[in-house]
Amino acid sequence: MRPSRLDPLFAALTTLPGIGPKLGKLYQRLFGREDAPARVLDLLLHLPSSTIDRRSRPDIRDVVPGSVATLAVTVDRHRPPPPNRPRLPYRIETYDDSGTLTVTYFHAKRDYLEQLFPVGELRYVSGTTALYDGMLQMVHPDRVVSEADLEKLPMVEPVYPLTEGLSLNVVRKAVDAALTKIPHLPEWQDDAWLERNGFPAFTDALTALHRPADPAGVLPESAAWSRLAYDEFLAGQLALALVRAHQRTLPGRGSSGEGILRAKVIKALPYALTPSQGRAVDDIVTDLARPQRMVRLLQGDVGSGKTVVALLAAATVIEAGRQAALMAPTEILARQHLATIAPLAEKAGIRVAILTGRERGKEREEMLGRLAIGELDLLVGTHALFQDDVAFRDLALAIIDEQHRFGVHQRLALARKGEAVDMLVLTATPIPRTLVLTYFGDMEISELREKPAGRQPIDTRAVALERLNEVVAAVGRAVDEGKRVYWVCPLVEESEMSDLAAAEDRFAALKKQFGERVGIVHGQMKGADKDRAMARFAAGETQLLVATTVIEVGVDVPAATVMVIEHAERFGLAQLHQLRGRIGRGQERSTCLLLYRAPLSETAKARLAIMRDTEDGFRIAEEDLRLRGEGDLLGTKQSGMPGFKVARIEVHGRLLAAARDDAALILSRDPGLATPRGEALRHLLYLFERDEAIRLLRAG
Ligand code: ADP
Ligand code: MG
Repeated sequence: MRPSRLDPLFAALTTLPGIGPKLGKLYQRLFGREDAPARVLDLLLHLPSSTIDRRSRPDIRDVVPGSVATLAVTVDRHRPPPPNRPRLPYRIETYDDSGTLTVTYFHAKRDYLEQLFPVGELRYVSGTTALYDGMLQMVHPDRVVSEADLEKLPMVEPVYPLTEGLSLNVVRKAVDAALTKIPHLPEWQDDAWLERNGFPAFTDALTALHRPADPAGVLPESAAWSRLAYDEFLAGQLALALVRAHQRTLPGRGSSGEGILRAKVIKALPYALTPSQGRAVDDIVTDLARPQRMVRLLQGDVGSGKTVVALLAAATVIEAGRQAALMAPTEILARQHLATIAPLAEKAGIRVAILTGRERGKEREEMLGRLAIGELDLLVGTHALFQDDVAFRDLALAIIDEQHRFGVHQRLALARKGEAVDMLVLTATPIPRTLVLTYFGDMEISELREKPAGRQPIDTRAVALERLNEVVAAVGRAVDEGKRVYWVCPLVEESEMSDLAAAEDRFAALKKQFGERVGIVHGQMKGADKDRAMARFAAGETQLLVATTVIEVGVDVPAATVMVIEHAERFGLAQLHQLRGRIGRGQERSTCLLLYRAPLSETAKARLAIMRDTEDGFRIAEEDLRLRGEGDLLGTKQSGMPGFKVARIEVHGRLLAAARDDAALILSRDPGLATPRGEALRHLLYLFERDEAIRLLRAG
């Protein structure tokens, strides 16, 4: 249970004065919590992006027009607009010993201004100054206070990221209220470590960031922000270490054998394994033979040959008389895995079947029957594998492809289909080394660094959309030469329907020109139709395949050598890389045309340049990280992977390794988080929503 002293932080934001349901909704949007109420904690962790510096307090004579200043002025007279011209500005003349300042308001209420600026009195006005008709003025000062209230005027005011309908002043007021709700919290960090780094206490860090003494105080590099980032890293690493420790305590069941079945599969391959494939298989076989649970990540760029490694892993447990499951995020991928695996499996005597949403009725029943009595060795499928009536006789190994599309829950759900199930996770998302720890700290890692032999480099070019006709003509020549071409359609908004419309338009246009040789595949098609479209393209019955991003992941047609990506500027680097990975898979040279609409933003320009420069997924991932921060690198939004609230990899990344070591040390001394520091750390896990791991403590 959450320590009750944290309750005020987890209270709904609407419990703060002045925040009703309407503002509550806006905050939800601001924090990206569309389906859950915004909480006080969310606001406190919503850190400033910059500041307004009001510390400059010159005499009027010395004001630099255009700058923000705080001026001490005496009110001379009010000049309201004439009654018949209410749209003219309301002016207030003020002065100090050195000159005069006009304070200007539009659409102002006279009573209000007369109260705010009593004639003859001293007021401090703070805001942006400007010259107008040679006169110094301040339009709508941000702040107006009397002498008595001067100390309440924040000289350095934080500026927050906002959302439409939410103003800075409203957010600032809410933050002030939220700051008063922070309870006394025990320190969970090591005192010596804090001191060495000059890090403040958690509460002090929050206060320092929301009430900065100077503009540098809100920089991510500041001690306060770094402290919070370290907190977040430590929470994440601690949670991963707990999961890992928990997994280690779970008994595994060693699956080993002579490797006869593996040898049969390898013999059936039309190629030799690459050295890194061989190493990955060795890692896996060693893991599987151990009496502990395996949780291993197989990381390899698109086309690096993960499927065959997965099959060899499956063969290992199958030889031990047990079963394996391979789960893919989409039906196309599941079928493609089956297509790769089935001929090899047949030669090796492995019995394989597929289960997706499409298998129904008697056939499905019959297949599940065979699964339950062990007449099937390997089941390939989609989410359908989770269904309640899917029962294995003895599931030993769960293989999950493109894991970032699945949440941890789904991983665990599949594991529950057997007893002591070993887990192999495949990902084609190249993850920079700095991030591997963060996301996969609970897994052992095997990497496929080299591509299978004989692959040709891809010639990548960026072409402006104005030259569409030339591109279509070139595609036509390629088709005439018998080549296979992907035409990827733009990502429009976030709606699949509008993607679809764009793809269908392009399909219609290309079909007019090239006739029956053009096919289409998109996410709204029925499974069987998708397969048929893919199969016809693979067989060469269609040569030009118009596609939405459904082909992004894993689709394998080695004969395809040309790809056109329309509106390439709308895709992220990782996505472009994934898409391009669909070509360059065979012996022939491939070409990728990135069609863009000018003018390009600086980042879009940089992205396309990187695509032209390199095919190295790891380099692309590093560049991606540099270009956009850790943001959505792994598509965290769709997948529910742990994202960061305050830590910025590019700024705080160097703290990550320390957090990992720290977590390991903490758990080696206090595996149950039962010491006073352990108790304090439980608070930390809740604050950064890594508390799921605490349940594992209790269970174990
Ligand atoms: P990915 O890692 O993207 O899932 P796949 O497993 O789909 O890659 O493999 C891509 C292609 O490379 C497949 O056509 C596969 O048959 C082929 N392949 C895999 N390993 C090798 C190898 N060692 N030598 C040659 N081709 C290979
Ligand atoms: Mg694959």
